[in-house]
Amino acid sequence: MAQIYDMIIIGSGPAGLSAAIYAARAKLDAIVIEQNYVSGGQVINTYEVDNYPGLPGMNGFDMGNTFREHAGKMGAVFSQEKVESIQIESDQVKQTEDAQLQAAESRQSGSLKKVVTDKNEYETKTIVIATGARHSKLGIPGEEKLSGMGVSYCATCDGAFFKDKTVAVVGGGDVAVEDAIFLSRLCKKVYVIHRRDELRAAKALQEKLFAQENVEMVWDSIATEIHGETQVTAITVENVKDKSQKELVVDGVFIAVGIIPNSELFKGLVDTDERGYLTAGEDCRTNVEGVFATGDVRTKQLRQIVTAVSDGANSITTAQEYLLHL
Ligand code: FAD
Repeated sequence: MAQIYDMIIIGSGPAGLSAAIYAARAKLDAIVIEQNYVSGGQVINTYEVDNYPGLPGMNGFDMGNTFREHAGKMGAVFSQEKVESIQIESDQVKQTEDAQLQAAESRQSGSLKKVVTDKNEYETKTIVIATGARHSKLGIPGEEKLSGMGVSYCATCDGAFFKDKTVAVVGGGDVAVEDAIFLSRLCKKVYVIHRRDELRAAKALQEKLFAQENVEMVWDSIATEIHGETQVTAITVENVKDKSQKELVVDGVFIAVGIIPNSELFKGLVDTDERGYLTAGEDCRTNVEGVFATGDVRTKQLRQIVTAVSDGANSITTAQEYLLHL
């Protein structure tokens, strides 16, 4: 008979690895499925992590490795596979007013979930989704080449490297404006490049931004090219109204045009918010009994390593409670 796991953890970024450590300590029969040959998720793309307690200045790749080694030492089991679908029996999806009744029924039935990968098919009692997110890209020349060499998608993470320098922020939503305010306190000058003549960000944020003397708005403009060989040196912007172009001399470009959750796989099964994030609170419970959402893929205020790691731990506590009542 095929093995039935207590838990399948999908993804081995900080959330998945933290879940793996807690699951191993709880002696759950769990397996971590990761599509990449290295663990660490988005963290491995950053040169230096400055805000994770106890590990200041650690290289992102090393941090991913350290987390993975820790999980391995605790007994976590890994497999390199890409999850292609999950299947859940319909009685496990809470509908609306009879949610509690349905939840109770699904607990009694203890019905299984299937995780289908490019190599295997697994049966499991619970699933921890830790598939993370990816940043939207501009798709312009220079962006890919200079990523990590002046092009960044995370001001909170990389801003400190641009102290007293000149940077550009591309975007006009809350994140872009928050990034620009944050950077204006560190940098000599901050350009904010936005395709419209007004920002989408909350008014309170806009007021704060406009109060910064070292911020210059570049309205009605899109970035068309990022220049530099081994480090960003300039960015070309085009005015969308009169098509005129100009080059701004900058040391860094922060792109904040949105992030995309890796939640496509779960569409139609697990509830999402309007931006595609899996709907779950701090206990990581989704609308589907026995399926938990952790880290960047879930609805939350701050997407960072420390909050992803926290989710990994919380999800196991909630999952253990669920397993206890099966
Ligand atoms: P992720 O790190 O995104 O990991 C998800 C994992 O799931 C990946 O390994 C992926 O391969 C795997 N996966 C996805 N889909 C599948 C599938 N179908 N099958 C199998 N596996 C799958 N945060 C900080 O706190 N400090 C920083 O300094 C910092 N710097 C950053 C720099 C950069 C360039 C970026 C992009 C982010 C940075 N962040 C930083 C944010 C931080 O990396 C994330 O908040 C954190 O990694 C989220 O962890 P996660 O486990 O939820 O998801």
